[in-house]
Amino acid sequence: MRYQELSYWLSSVDEPLTPRPALPGDADADVVIVGAGYTGLWTAYYLAAADPTLRITVLESEIAGYGASGRNGGWCSALFPTSLPALAWRHGRDRALAMQRAMQETVREVGRVVAAEGIDCDWRPGGTVVLARSGAQLGRARAAVEEAREYGLSDEDLVLLDADQAAARCAADGVLGGTYTPHCAAVHPARLVRGLARAVEGRGVTIYERTPVTAIRPGAAVTPAGVVRAPVVVRATEGFTPALPGQRRTVAPVYSLMVATEPLPASTWAEIGLADRETFSDYRHVIIYGQRTADGRLAFGGRGAPYHFGSRTAPGYDREPRVFAALRRVLGELFPVLGEVPVSHTWGGPLGVARDWAASVGLDRASGLAWAGGYVGDGVGTSNLAGRTLADLIRGQRTELTALPWVNHRSPRWEPEPLRWLAVNAGLRLMFSADEAEQRTNRPARRAAAFSRLLGH
Ligand SMILES: Cc1cc2nc3c(=O)[nH]c(=O)nc-3n(C[C@H](O)[C@H](O)[C@H](O)COP(=O)(O)OP(=O)(O)OC[C@H]3O[C@@H](n4cnc5c(N)ncnc54)[C@H](O)[C@@H]3O)c2cc1C
Repeated sequence: MRYQELSYWLSSVDEPLTPRPALPGDADADVVIVGAGYTGLWTAYYLAAADPTLRITVLESEIAGYGASGRNGGWCSALFPTSLPALAWRHGRDRALAMQRAMQETVREVGRVVAAEGIDCDWRPGGTVVLARSGAQLGRARAAVEEAREYGLSDEDLVLLDADQAAARCAADGVLGGTYTPHCAAVHPARLVRGLARAVEGRGVTIYERTPVTAIRPGAAVTPAGVVRAPVVVRATEGFTPALPGQRRTVAPVYSLMVATEPLPASTWAEIGLADRETFSDYRHVIIYGQRTADGRLAFGGRGAPYHFGSRTAPGYDREPRVFAALRRVLGELFPVLGEVPVSHTWGGPLGVARDWAASVGLDRASGLAWAGGYVGDGVGTSNLAGRTLADLIRGQRTELTALPWVNHRSPRWEPEPLRWLAVNAGLRLMFSADEAEQRTNRPARRAAAFSRLLGH
């Protein structure tokens, strides 16, 4: 496989992506981690930092960064897939706020490690601007700020922008206003994950690549080449989880797809803005997200690819010409100044969605089985919090992190097929038609809001 072709990001790292050696045979470890994305690697990083004597082995079916970690939009944000009201409803207001503050601190923590380890990943903490380009979207922007205020968050966390203020940050067509939060950094995601892999190796962790795990059970991760025995086994496989025995209904893999333009001239950037490399989006229902890359491209993504029956993942599923064309069209609507600028790269990848839309991290002490994931589209930052939390849990520490409400949360399993297929794809279609209806009528689409609530999002 030519790993460079998996994303613009993997095509633009300064290394050949030669796989590390595979597991040579049976082995013993103190902790074995399955999956070398951010989750697996952050866990290894903090465990090794806390206790350099631990023998930590990471098993990866392809190469470090093969999954969503090498392909995402590069928003290292404080976004958490469960909304503050939903968290407060389940766990109380104080614990919901503690989660929010921990996420904000996480963005700073990733920046700290990137600097400390010298990971060259175009880190730029320029915040996020979310635009409102219709009356309905403006209503949602106002509601987002009101909600933040109800939870004691201030202008320092999320501020409402009028049309001029929003356009000064991101001069998209038809901007009526928006919101801005400083709690986000733009990052080159593949450089981050590859740099992290080198950093953990520097701390004595062993990473075996091209080593697919065929079963996880208490005390062991099983591969065709041999079994790694360890008292603690961490599942860090996110969108690929359903392929593991017994995990078919744990998360639904939903594909997010992206395009990148050729580098844009300075004159175009002078019109668009994003001078601080703010990540950007708008208040439509079907998520879109973008960043100005360090080399002057627009990298832009969104959902909309279909969910595949039986929670299957396959390389071809991240190639949907219809979605790529739609993304380029939306980019042109946002920034007419782009004209005919060509798209240079198209790609995508699977993310993991739990049935209650709740990310979780945990360790079952009796079996030694640990996990983290279900981040939906918010895993770049959240996986760092997961790694720090797993390191505390595995070392038996009771800390502020292990008291956070997502720890040891158990999401319900997804419905069996064909219900799962019908529900997920119907939901995606409903969101699209809601956005179209809003654009036509300029009124909020109530059915989409109801569907979001049903999913607990
Ligand atoms: C296109 C796209 C855009 C996104 N944009 C953003 C964004 O801007 N901001 C944000 O916060 N989040 C974003 N996300 C989500 C984010 O990328 C993920 O939540 C995050 O990378 C998850 O990291 P992970 O390590 O848990 O999973 P992954 O990075 O998917 O890593 C899992 C690893 O496990 C390996 N693996 C799986 N099964 C096995 C097995 N059986 N044996 C061995 N190895 C196995 C895989 O090969 C893979 O390397 C996006 C996702 C996608 C796909």
